[in-house]
Amino acid sequence: MHPALYWIRRDLRLADNPALHAAARSGRAVIPVYIHAPAEAGDWAPGNASNWWLHHSLRAMADALAAHGLPLIIREGDSLGALMDLVAETGAEAVHWNRLYEPARIASDTRVKQGLKAEGIDAHSHNAALLHEPWTIQTGTGGDYKAFTPFWRACRRQPEPAPPLGVPADLATTDGAHGLTGSVVPSAGITAPLDALDLLPPSDSAEGLQSTWRPGEQGAHDRLEGFLEMALAEYREGRERPAVAGTSRLSPHLHHGEISPRQIWQAVQAQLARHGAEGDRLDSAEMFLSEIGWREFAQHVLYHHPEFPDEPLNPRFADFPWQEDPGDQLLGAWQRGETGIPLVDAGMRELYTTGWMHNRIRMVVGSFLVKNLRLPWQAGEAWFWDKLVDADLASNSLGWQWVAGSGADAAPYFRVFNPIRQGERFDAEGAYIAHWLPALAGLPAKHRQAPWQAPAGVLRDAGVTLGVNYSHPLVDLKESRQAALAAFEQIKKGA
Ligand SMILES: Cc1cc2nc3c(=O)[nH]c(=O)nc-3n(C[C@H](O)[C@H](O)[C@H](O)COP(=O)(O)OP(=O)(O)OC[C@H]3O[C@@H](n4cnc5c(N)ncnc54)[C@H](O)[C@@H]3O)c2cc1C
Repeated sequence: MHPALYWIRRDLRLADNPALHAAARSGRAVIPVYIHAPAEAGDWAPGNASNWWLHHSLRAMADALAAHGLPLIIREGDSLGALMDLVAETGAEAVHWNRLYEPARIASDTRVKQGLKAEGIDAHSHNAALLHEPWTIQTGTGGDYKAFTPFWRACRRQPEPAPPLGVPADLATTDGAHGLTGSVVPSAGITAPLDALDLLPPSDSAEGLQSTWRPGEQGAHDRLEGFLEMALAEYREGRERPAVAGTSRLSPHLHHGEISPRQIWQAVQAQLARHGAEGDRLDSAEMFLSEIGWREFAQHVLYHHPEFPDEPLNPRFADFPWQEDPGDQLLGAWQRGETGIPLVDAGMRELYTTGWMHNRIRMVVGSFLVKNLRLPWQAGEAWFWDKLVDADLASNSLGWQWVAGSGADAAPYFRVFNPIRQGERFDAEGAYIAHWLPALAGLPAKHRQAPWQAPAGVLRDAGVTLGVNYSHPLVDLKESRQAALAAFEQIKKGA
Protein backbone atom coordinates (compact mmCIF):
# COMPACT_ATOMS: atom_id res chain seq x y z
CA MET A 1 0.00 0.00 0.00
CA HIS A 2 1.16 3.52 -0.68
CA PRO A 3 2.03 5.57 2.41
CA ALA A 4 -0.02 8.31 4.10
CA LEU A 5 1.38 11.69 5.07
CA TYR A 6 0.49 12.87 8.57
CA TRP A 7 0.73 16.67 8.32
CA ILE A 8 1.59 18.11 11.74
CA ARG A 9 0.53 21.58 12.82
CA ARG A 10 -0.60 22.58 16.32
CA ASP A 11 -1.19 18.97 17.37
CA LEU A 12 2.23 18.11 18.72
CA ARG A 13 1.34 14.87 20.50
CA LEU A 14 1.05 11.17 19.76
CA ALA A 15 -1.88 10.33 22.07
CA ASP A 16 -5.44 11.41 21.30
CA ASN A 17 -4.37 12.56 17.89
CA PRO A 18 -7.18 11.75 15.43
CA ALA A 19 -5.17 12.53 12.26
CA LEU A 20 -2.24 10.38 13.32
CA HIS A 21 -4.63 7.69 14.47
CA ALA A 22 -6.54 7.65 11.17
CA ALA A 23 -3.31 7.56 9.14
CA ALA A 24 -2.01 4.63 11.20
CA ARG A 25 -5.34 2.80 11.16
CA SER A 26 -5.54 3.01 7.37
CA GLY A 27 -2.85 0.35 7.26
CA ARG A 28 -0.58 2.60 5.23
CA ALA A 29 2.95 3.46 6.31
CA VAL A 30 2.81 6.82 8.09
CA ILE A 31 5.13 9.66 7.13
CA PRO A 32 4.96 12.57 9.60
CA VAL A 33 5.75 15.98 8.16
CA TYR A 34 5.84 19.49 9.58
CA ILE A 35 5.70 22.33 7.05
CA HIS A 36 6.73 25.73 8.32
CA ALA A 37 4.41 28.21 6.62
CA PRO A 38 3.92 31.25 8.87
CA ALA A 39 2.60 33.28 5.93
CA GLU A 40 -0.47 31.05 5.95
CA ALA A 41 -1.46 32.58 9.30
CA GLY A 42 -2.15 35.87 7.46
CA ASP A 43 -1.45 38.94 9.60
CA TRP A 44 -1.03 36.76 12.67
CA ALA A 45 2.13 34.76 12.10
CA PRO A 46 3.28 33.37 15.47
CA GLY A 47 5.34 35.76 17.61
CA ASN A 48 8.71 35.28 19.27
CA ALA A 49 7.59 33.43 22.39
CA SER A 50 5.37 31.07 20.36
CA ASN A 51 8.26 30.36 18.02
CA TRP A 52 10.51 29.51 20.94
CA TRP A 53 7.89 27.05 22.14
CA LEU A 54 7.39 25.59 18.67
CA HIS A 55 11.11 24.89 18.28
CA HIS A 56 11.28 22.86 21.47
CA SER A 57 7.95 21.18 20.94
CA LEU A 58 8.96 20.04 17.44
CA ARG A 59 12.09 18.56 18.89
CA ALA A 60 10.09 16.71 21.56
CA MET A 61 7.70 15.47 18.87
CA ALA A 62 10.59 14.31 16.70
CA ASP A 63 12.02 12.38 19.67
CA ALA A 64 8.64 10.80 20.44
CA LEU A 65 8.17 9.76 16.80
CA ALA A 66 11.73 8.46 16.63
CA ALA A 67 10.98 6.18 19.58
CA HIS A 68 8.44 4.55 17.25
CA GLY A 69 10.90 4.38 14.40
CA LEU A 70 9.38 7.33 12.54
CA PRO A 71 11.49 10.24 11.34
CA LEU A 72 9.92 13.71 11.32
CA ILE A 73 10.31 15.49 8.00
CA ILE A 74 10.57 19.27 8.19
CA ARG A 75 9.86 21.46 5.17
CA GLU A 76 9.30 25.17 4.61
CA GLY A 77 7.10 27.19 2.28
CA ASP A 78 3.69 26.86 0.75
CA SER A 79 1.90 23.91 2.40
CA LEU A 80 0.17 22.61 -0.71
CA GLY A 81 3.38 22.80 -2.73
CA ALA A 82 5.37 21.04 -0.01
CA LEU A 83 2.75 18.31 0.36
CA MET A 84 2.63 17.75 -3.39
CA ASP A 85 6.44 17.52 -3.47
CA LEU A 86 6.29 14.88 -0.75
CA VAL A 87 3.55 13.01 -2.55
CA ALA A 88 5.83 12.88 -5.59
CA GLU A 89 8.89 11.87 -3.54
CA THR A 90 7.22 9.17 -1.41
CA GLY A 91 4.35 7.93 -3.54
CA ALA A 92 1.91 8.85 -0.73
CA GLU A 93 -1.74 8.59 -1.67
CA ALA A 94 -3.36 10.06 1.45
CA VAL A 95 -2.83 13.08 3.71
CA HIS A 96 -4.29 13.44 7.21
CA TRP A 97 -4.25 16.54 9.39
CA ASN A 98 -6.03 18.10 12.36
CA ARG A 99 -8.09 21.22 11.83
CA LEU A 100 -7.28 24.79 12.88
CA TYR A 101 -10.01 27.39 13.15
CA GLU A 102 -8.41 30.78 12.54
CA PRO A 103 -9.86 32.49 9.44
CA ALA A 104 -6.56 32.54 7.50
CA ARG A 105 -5.91 28.88 8.31
CA ILE A 106 -9.40 27.87 7.23
CA ALA A 107 -8.82 29.62 3.91
CA SER A 108 -5.44 28.02 3.31
CA ASP A 109 -6.58 24.56 4.48
CA THR A 110 -9.53 24.72 2.10
CA ARG A 111 -7.13 25.48 -0.74
CA VAL A 112 -4.87 22.60 0.33
CA LYS A 113 -7.74 20.13 0.49
CA GLN A 114 -9.04 21.15 -2.94
CA GLY A 115 -5.53 21.01 -4.41
CA LEU A 116 -4.83 17.54 -3.05
CA LYS A 117 -8.18 16.17 -4.13
CA ALA A 118 -7.71 17.60 -7.61
CA GLU A 119 -4.58 15.45 -7.85
CA GLY A 120 -6.45 12.35 -6.72
CA ILE A 121 -4.97 12.32 -3.21
CA ASP A 122 -7.17 11.26 -0.28
CA ALA A 123 -7.29 14.36 1.93
CA HIS A 124 -8.81 14.08 5.41
CA SER A 125 -9.03 16.66 8.18
CA HIS A 126 -9.96 15.81 11.79
CA ASN A 127 -10.86 17.51 15.06
CA ALA A 128 -8.12 17.29 17.67
CA ALA A 129 -8.29 20.67 19.38
CA LEU A 130 -11.82 21.19 20.65
CA LEU A 131 -14.57 19.45 22.57
CA HIS A 132 -17.11 21.07 20.26
CA GLU A 133 -16.23 22.51 16.89
CA PRO A 134 -17.55 26.04 16.43
CA TRP A 135 -20.37 25.20 14.04
CA THR A 136 -21.74 22.35 16.17
CA ILE A 137 -23.08 24.57 18.95
CA GLN A 138 -26.02 26.70 17.86
CA THR A 139 -28.68 28.82 19.48
CA GLY A 140 -32.31 27.71 19.27
CA THR A 141 -32.64 29.75 16.06
CA GLY A 142 -29.51 28.31 14.50
CA GLY A 143 -27.27 31.31 15.24
CA ASP A 144 -24.01 31.69 17.14
CA TYR A 145 -23.68 32.53 20.82
CA LYS A 146 -22.58 35.99 22.00
CA ALA A 147 -22.54 35.18 25.71
CA PHE A 148 -20.56 32.52 27.50
CA THR A 149 -23.11 31.15 29.98
CA PRO A 150 -25.74 30.01 27.46
CA PHE A 151 -22.95 28.80 25.16
CA TRP A 152 -21.49 26.62 27.89
CA ARG A 153 -24.93 25.41 28.92
CA ALA A 154 -25.52 24.32 25.33
CA CYS A 155 -22.14 22.55 25.32
CA ARG A 156 -23.00 20.74 28.53
CA ARG A 157 -26.22 19.49 26.99
CA GLN A 158 -24.17 17.66 24.35
CA PRO A 159 -23.10 14.06 24.99
CA GLU A 160 -20.01 13.73 27.22
CA PRO A 161 -16.76 14.03 25.23
CA ALA A 162 -15.65 10.68 23.80
CA PRO A 163 -12.80 8.98 25.67
CA PRO A 164 -9.42 10.08 24.31
CA LEU A 165 -7.56 7.90 21.84
CA GLY A 166 -4.30 6.25 22.86
CA VAL A 167 -1.03 6.30 20.95
CA PRO A 168 -1.79 4.28 17.81
CA ALA A 169 -0.63 0.75 18.51
CA ASP A 170 0.30 0.12 14.91
CA LEU A 171 2.68 3.08 14.79
CA ALA A 172 5.45 0.94 16.16
CA THR A 173 5.10 -1.50 13.30
CA THR A 174 4.55 0.97 10.53
CA ASP A 175 7.49 1.25 8.20
CA GLY A 176 7.09 4.91 7.29
CA ALA A 177 10.79 5.54 7.41
CA HIS A 178 11.73 2.53 5.40
CA GLY A 179 12.30 3.04 1.77
CA LEU A 180 12.48 6.84 2.14
CA THR A 181 15.58 8.13 0.48
CA GLY A 182 18.07 10.53 2.03
CA SER A 183 16.60 13.32 -0.06
CA VAL A 184 13.31 12.96 1.86
CA VAL A 185 14.66 12.24 5.35
CA PRO A 186 17.98 13.90 6.15
CA SER A 187 20.19 11.17 7.59
CA ALA A 188 21.64 13.54 10.20
CA GLY A 189 18.22 13.91 11.88
CA ILE A 190 16.13 17.01 12.41
CA THR A 191 18.69 19.32 14.02
CA ALA A 192 19.78 21.07 10.84
CA PRO A 193 16.30 21.47 9.29
CA LEU A 194 14.87 22.59 12.65
CA ASP A 195 17.67 25.12 13.20
CA ALA A 196 17.17 26.39 9.66
CA LEU A 197 13.67 27.53 10.62
CA ASP A 198 15.38 30.08 12.87
CA LEU A 199 12.67 29.97 15.54
CA LEU A 200 14.81 30.74 18.57
CA PRO A 201 15.27 34.27 19.94
CA PRO A 202 18.69 35.43 21.21
CA SER A 203 19.62 33.09 24.07
CA ASP A 204 19.53 35.67 26.88
CA SER A 205 15.90 36.56 26.18
CA ALA A 206 14.99 32.85 26.34
CA GLU A 207 16.49 32.13 29.76
CA GLY A 208 13.26 32.80 31.63
CA LEU A 209 11.30 30.68 29.17
CA GLN A 210 13.80 27.87 29.47
CA SER A 211 13.65 27.78 33.26
CA THR A 212 9.84 28.02 33.40
CA TRP A 213 8.58 25.57 30.79
CA ARG A 214 9.02 22.11 29.37
CA PRO A 215 7.40 22.11 25.93
CA GLY A 216 6.21 18.76 24.60
CA GLU A 217 3.63 16.07 25.31
CA GLN A 218 5.40 14.73 28.41
CA GLY A 219 5.77 18.23 29.86
CA ALA A 220 2.06 18.81 29.30
CA HIS A 221 1.02 15.63 31.09
CA ASP A 222 3.38 16.24 33.99
CA ARG A 223 1.90 19.73 34.29
CA LEU A 224 -1.65 18.35 34.29
CA GLU A 225 -0.85 15.70 36.88
CA GLY A 226 0.83 18.21 39.18
CA PHE A 227 -2.14 20.54 38.89
CA LEU A 228 -4.69 17.80 39.59
CA GLU A 229 -2.81 16.67 42.67
CA MET A 230 -1.79 20.02 44.09
CA ALA A 231 -4.28 22.66 42.99
CA LEU A 232 -7.53 21.41 41.45
CA ALA A 233 -9.36 20.95 44.77
CA GLU A 234 -8.62 24.58 45.70
CA TYR A 235 -8.95 26.00 42.19
CA ARG A 236 -12.01 28.12 42.94
CA GLU A 237 -10.04 30.27 45.38
CA GLY A 238 -6.49 29.57 44.23
CA ARG A 239 -7.10 30.69 40.66
CA GLU A 240 -7.50 34.27 41.84
CA ARG A 241 -4.14 34.54 43.58
CA PRO A 242 -1.30 35.43 41.23
CA ALA A 243 1.42 34.71 43.81
CA VAL A 244 0.53 31.02 44.10
CA ALA A 245 0.51 28.20 41.56
CA GLY A 246 -3.28 27.99 41.73
CA THR A 247 -4.00 27.46 38.02
CA SER A 248 -2.91 24.73 35.64
CA ARG A 249 -0.60 26.73 33.33
CA LEU A 250 -1.67 24.35 30.62
CA SER A 251 -2.46 27.16 28.16
CA PRO A 252 0.73 26.93 26.04
CA HIS A 253 0.49 23.14 25.99
CA LEU A 254 -3.14 23.35 24.90
CA HIS A 255 -2.39 25.97 22.28
CA HIS A 256 0.32 23.85 20.68
CA GLY A 257 -1.80 20.72 20.92
CA GLU A 258 0.53 18.83 23.23
CA ILE A 259 -2.49 17.82 25.24
CA SER A 260 -6.14 17.72 24.20
CA PRO A 261 -9.17 19.11 26.01
CA ARG A 262 -10.62 15.58 25.91
CA GLN A 263 -7.63 14.26 27.84
CA ILE A 264 -8.01 17.04 30.39
CA TRP A 265 -11.73 16.41 30.66
CA GLN A 266 -11.21 12.72 31.29
CA ALA A 267 -8.39 13.30 33.79
CA VAL A 268 -10.60 15.67 35.81
CA GLN A 269 -13.45 13.15 35.84
CA ALA A 270 -11.05 10.42 36.96
CA GLN A 271 -9.73 12.66 39.72
CA LEU A 272 -13.28 13.32 40.93
CA ALA A 273 -14.07 9.61 40.83
CA ARG A 274 -10.97 8.88 42.94
CA HIS A 275 -11.44 11.57 45.55
CA GLY A 276 -15.18 12.14 45.55
CA ALA A 277 -17.27 14.46 43.40
CA GLU A 278 -18.76 16.70 46.04
CA GLY A 279 -18.59 20.07 47.79
CA ASP A 280 -15.71 22.43 47.09
CA ARG A 281 -13.84 19.84 45.06
CA LEU A 282 -16.75 19.48 42.66
CA ASP A 283 -17.25 23.25 42.47
CA SER A 284 -13.57 23.74 41.73
CA ALA A 285 -13.55 21.04 39.07
CA GLU A 286 -16.64 22.52 37.41
CA MET A 287 -15.05 25.93 37.42
CA PHE A 288 -11.85 24.59 35.90
CA LEU A 289 -13.81 22.79 33.16
CA SER A 290 -15.72 25.99 32.47
CA GLU A 291 -12.37 27.71 31.79
CA ILE A 292 -11.76 25.06 29.16
CA GLY A 293 -15.23 26.14 28.04
CA TRP A 294 -14.01 29.75 27.67
CA ARG A 295 -11.34 28.46 25.34
CA GLU A 296 -14.06 26.78 23.26
CA PHE A 297 -16.16 29.95 23.37
CA ALA A 298 -13.23 32.00 22.04
CA GLN A 299 -12.94 29.68 19.04
CA HIS A 300 -16.70 29.86 18.52
CA VAL A 301 -16.67 33.67 18.48
CA LEU A 302 -13.66 33.88 16.16
CA TYR A 303 -15.13 31.36 13.74
CA HIS A 304 -18.37 33.29 13.46
CA HIS A 305 -16.68 36.72 13.46
CA PRO A 306 -13.45 36.43 11.45
CA GLU A 307 -12.73 40.16 11.91
CA PHE A 308 -12.68 39.71 15.72
CA PRO A 309 -8.86 40.02 16.19
CA ASP A 310 -8.80 43.42 14.49
CA GLU A 311 -12.14 45.11 14.92
CA PRO A 312 -14.42 45.66 17.90
CA LEU A 313 -17.34 43.27 17.89
CA ASN A 314 -19.47 46.16 19.13
CA PRO A 315 -19.12 48.64 16.22
CA ARG A 316 -19.76 51.59 18.54
CA PHE A 317 -16.18 51.20 19.77
CA ALA A 318 -14.76 51.80 16.29
CA ASP A 319 -14.93 55.54 17.02
CA PHE A 320 -13.50 55.43 20.52
CA PRO A 321 -11.39 58.57 21.17
CA TRP A 322 -8.06 56.95 22.07
CA GLN A 323 -5.29 59.01 23.57
CA GLU A 324 -2.48 60.41 21.38
CA ASP A 325 0.81 58.76 22.34
CA PRO A 326 3.67 60.45 20.46
CA GLY A 327 6.72 58.22 20.25
CA ASP A 328 4.80 55.44 21.97
CA GLN A 329 5.93 56.79 25.32
CA LEU A 330 2.97 55.49 27.28
CA LEU A 331 2.84 52.20 25.41
CA GLY A 332 6.59 51.69 25.87
CA ALA A 333 6.38 52.27 29.63
CA TRP A 334 3.54 49.76 29.85
CA GLN A 335 5.43 47.20 27.77
CA ARG A 336 8.58 47.55 29.87
CA GLY A 337 6.70 47.39 33.18
CA GLU A 338 7.62 50.96 34.10
CA THR A 339 4.22 52.52 34.74
CA GLY A 340 4.89 53.09 38.44
CA ILE A 341 1.77 51.04 39.27
CA PRO A 342 3.27 47.95 40.94
CA LEU A 343 0.64 45.33 40.13
CA VAL A 344 0.74 46.36 36.46
CA ASP A 345 4.54 46.44 36.32
CA ALA A 346 4.85 43.09 38.11
CA GLY A 347 2.53 41.52 35.54
CA MET A 348 4.38 42.98 32.58
CA ARG A 349 7.67 41.68 33.95
CA GLU A 350 6.21 38.25 34.56
CA LEU A 351 5.10 38.27 30.92
CA TYR A 352 8.44 39.47 29.61
CA THR A 353 10.41 36.94 31.66
CA THR A 354 8.27 33.81 31.50
CA GLY A 355 6.06 34.29 28.44
CA TRP A 356 2.96 33.87 30.61
CA MET A 357 0.86 36.04 32.91
CA HIS A 358 -1.77 35.15 35.45
CA ASN A 359 -5.34 35.68 34.17
CA ARG A 360 -6.31 38.15 36.90
CA ILE A 361 -3.23 40.21 36.10
CA ARG A 362 -3.92 40.05 32.35
CA MET A 363 -7.22 41.75 33.14
CA VAL A 364 -5.54 44.34 35.37
CA VAL A 365 -2.77 45.29 32.91
CA GLY A 366 -5.31 45.26 30.08
CA SER A 367 -7.70 47.56 31.89
CA PHE A 368 -4.84 49.89 32.76
CA LEU A 369 -3.71 50.12 29.12
CA VAL A 370 -7.16 50.55 27.60
CA LYS A 371 -8.78 52.68 30.29
CA ASN A 372 -6.18 54.51 32.39
CA LEU A 373 -3.81 55.09 29.45
CA ARG A 374 -6.65 55.06 26.92
CA LEU A 375 -4.56 53.28 24.31
CA PRO A 376 -6.21 50.95 21.79
CA TRP A 377 -6.73 47.36 22.89
CA GLN A 378 -5.14 46.24 19.62
CA ALA A 379 -1.78 47.60 20.86
CA GLY A 380 -1.98 45.39 23.95
CA GLU A 381 -3.17 42.45 21.89
CA ALA A 382 -0.15 42.78 19.57
CA TRP A 383 2.31 42.93 22.48
CA PHE A 384 0.76 39.86 24.11
CA TRP A 385 0.83 38.13 20.73
CA ASP A 386 4.58 38.47 20.54
CA LYS A 387 5.38 37.78 24.18
CA LEU A 388 2.97 35.03 25.30
CA VAL A 389 3.95 31.39 24.95
CA ASP A 390 0.20 30.69 24.90
CA ALA A 391 -0.58 33.43 22.34
CA ASP A 392 -3.77 32.20 20.74
CA LEU A 393 -5.65 34.29 18.22
CA ALA A 394 -9.10 33.41 19.54
CA SER A 395 -8.38 33.63 23.29
CA ASN A 396 -6.19 36.71 22.97
CA SER A 397 -8.81 38.60 20.95
CA LEU A 398 -11.53 37.51 23.36
CA GLY A 399 -9.43 38.60 26.35
CA TRP A 400 -8.62 42.00 24.90
CA GLN A 401 -12.11 42.74 23.67
CA TRP A 402 -13.41 41.61 27.07
CA VAL A 403 -11.11 44.09 28.79
CA ALA A 404 -11.99 46.85 26.32
CA GLY A 405 -15.70 46.27 26.79
CA SER A 406 -16.21 45.88 23.05
CA GLY A 407 -16.34 42.10 22.71
CA ALA A 408 -18.54 39.09 23.29
CA ASP A 409 -19.70 38.82 26.90
CA ALA A 410 -17.30 41.64 27.73
CA ALA A 411 -16.79 43.58 30.94
CA PRO A 412 -18.81 46.79 30.68
CA TYR A 413 -16.55 49.64 29.66
CA PHE A 414 -17.36 51.63 32.81
CA ARG A 415 -15.86 48.85 34.93
CA VAL A 416 -12.33 50.20 35.37
CA PHE A 417 -10.12 47.91 37.44
CA ASN A 418 -8.39 49.77 40.23
CA PRO A 419 -4.97 48.11 40.40
CA ILE A 420 -4.49 49.10 44.05
CA ARG A 421 -7.79 47.51 45.12
CA GLN A 422 -7.10 44.48 42.92
CA GLY A 423 -3.73 44.06 44.60
CA GLU A 424 -5.18 44.43 48.08
CA ARG A 425 -7.78 41.81 47.26
CA PHE A 426 -5.80 39.23 45.35
CA ASP A 427 -2.20 39.85 46.46
CA ALA A 428 -2.82 41.05 49.99
CA GLU A 429 0.70 40.23 51.18
CA GLY A 430 2.23 41.88 48.13
CA ALA A 431 4.13 38.64 47.48
CA TYR A 432 3.56 38.79 43.72
CA ILE A 433 4.84 42.36 43.62
CA ALA A 434 7.87 41.57 45.76
CA HIS A 435 8.74 38.66 43.49
CA TRP A 436 8.60 40.55 40.20
CA LEU A 437 9.70 43.95 41.52
CA PRO A 438 12.51 43.19 43.96
CA ALA A 439 13.12 46.94 44.34
CA LEU A 440 9.85 47.10 46.30
CA ALA A 441 10.39 43.94 48.35
CA GLY A 442 11.68 45.89 51.36
CA LEU A 443 8.42 47.84 51.69
CA PRO A 444 5.86 46.68 54.25
CA ALA A 445 3.08 44.72 52.49
CA LYS A 446 0.53 47.49 52.93
CA HIS A 447 2.64 49.96 50.94
CA ARG A 448 3.62 47.70 48.07
CA GLN A 449 0.49 48.39 46.03
CA ALA A 450 0.96 52.18 46.01
CA PRO A 451 4.49 53.18 47.02
CA TRP A 452 3.89 56.83 46.09
CA GLN A 453 1.43 57.01 48.99
CA ALA A 454 3.97 55.65 51.50
CA PRO A 455 5.55 58.10 54.01
CA ALA A 456 9.03 59.29 53.03
CA GLY A 457 10.62 57.49 55.98
CA VAL A 458 9.07 54.15 55.01
CA LEU A 459 10.38 54.53 51.46
CA ARG A 460 13.83 55.47 52.76
CA ASP A 461 13.99 52.50 55.14
CA ALA A 462 12.98 50.17 52.31
CA GLY A 463 15.63 51.62 49.99
CA VAL A 464 13.00 52.86 47.51
CA THR A 465 13.62 56.15 45.72
CA LEU A 466 10.80 56.95 43.32
CA GLY A 467 12.13 58.07 39.97
CA VAL A 468 15.42 56.28 40.68
CA ASN A 469 14.91 52.61 41.43
CA TYR A 470 11.15 52.54 40.89
CA SER A 471 9.00 54.73 38.63
CA HIS A 472 6.62 57.49 39.63
CA PRO A 473 3.05 56.64 38.57
CA LEU A 474 2.63 57.35 34.89
CA VAL A 475 -0.91 58.66 35.42
CA ASP A 476 -3.16 59.56 38.30
CA LEU A 477 -5.49 56.58 38.67
CA LYS A 478 -8.53 58.64 39.64
CA GLU A 479 -8.17 61.31 36.96
CA SER A 480 -7.41 58.82 34.20
CA ARG A 481 -10.45 56.80 35.22
CA GLN A 482 -12.63 59.91 34.92
CA ALA A 483 -11.13 60.68 31.50
CA ALA A 484 -11.89 57.11 30.35
CA LEU A 485 -15.49 57.37 31.49
CA ALA A 486 -15.86 60.74 29.75
CA ALA A 487 -14.48 59.22 26.53
CA PHE A 488 -16.96 56.38 26.87
CA GLU A 489 -19.83 58.89 27.19
CA GLN A 490 -18.82 60.28 23.78
CA ILE A 491 -19.28 56.97 21.99
CA LYS A 492 -22.45 56.29 23.95
CA LYS A 493 -23.90 59.55 22.63
CA GLY A 494 -22.81 58.69 19.11
CA ALA A 495 -24.64 55.36 19.26
C1 LIG B 1 -6.16 40.31 27.88
C2 LIG B 1 -6.17 38.80 27.90
C3 LIG B 1 -5.46 38.10 26.93
C4 LIG B 1 -5.45 36.69 26.94
N1 LIG B 1 -4.74 36.03 25.97
C5 LIG B 1 -4.76 34.67 25.95
C6 LIG B 1 -4.04 33.95 24.95
O1 LIG B 1 -3.43 34.52 24.04
N2 LIG B 1 -4.04 32.59 25.02
C7 LIG B 1 -4.73 31.91 25.99
O2 LIG B 1 -4.68 30.68 26.01
N3 LIG B 1 -5.44 32.57 26.92
C8 LIG B 1 -5.48 33.92 26.94
N4 LIG B 1 -6.17 34.58 27.92
C9 LIG B 1 -7.03 33.80 28.84
C10 LIG B 1 -6.36 33.36 30.16
O3 LIG B 1 -5.73 34.45 30.77
C11 LIG B 1 -5.37 32.23 29.99
O4 LIG B 1 -5.94 31.18 29.23
C12 LIG B 1 -4.98 31.65 31.34
O5 LIG B 1 -4.43 32.66 32.16
C13 LIG B 1 -3.97 30.54 31.14
O6 LIG B 1 -3.49 30.08 32.36
P1 LIG B 1 -3.81 28.62 32.87
O7 LIG B 1 -3.48 27.64 31.81
O8 LIG B 1 -3.13 28.47 34.17
O9 LIG B 1 -5.38 28.69 33.07
P2 LIG B 1 -6.37 27.78 33.92
O10 LIG B 1 -7.07 28.67 34.86
O11 LIG B 1 -5.69 26.61 34.47
O12 LIG B 1 -7.45 27.34 32.83
C14 LIG B 1 -7.34 26.13 32.08
C15 LIG B 1 -7.38 26.45 30.60
O13 LIG B 1 -8.60 27.06 30.24
C16 LIG B 1 -8.37 28.01 29.20
N5 LIG B 1 -8.77 29.33 29.68
C17 LIG B 1 -8.75 29.79 30.94
N6 LIG B 1 -9.22 31.05 30.99
C18 LIG B 1 -9.54 31.39 29.73
C19 LIG B 1 -10.09 32.57 29.13
N7 LIG B 1 -10.44 33.64 29.86
N8 LIG B 1 -10.27 32.58 27.80
C20 LIG B 1 -9.96 31.51 27.04
N9 LIG B 1 -9.44 30.37 27.55
C21 LIG B 1 -9.24 30.31 28.88
C22 LIG B 1 -6.90 27.97 28.87
O14 LIG B 1 -6.70 27.11 27.78
C23 LIG B 1 -6.30 27.40 30.14
O15 LIG B 1 -5.08 26.74 29.93
C24 LIG B 1 -6.20 35.99 27.92
C25 LIG B 1 -6.91 36.71 28.90
C26 LIG B 1 -6.89 38.10 28.89
C27 LIG B 1 -7.66 38.85 29.94
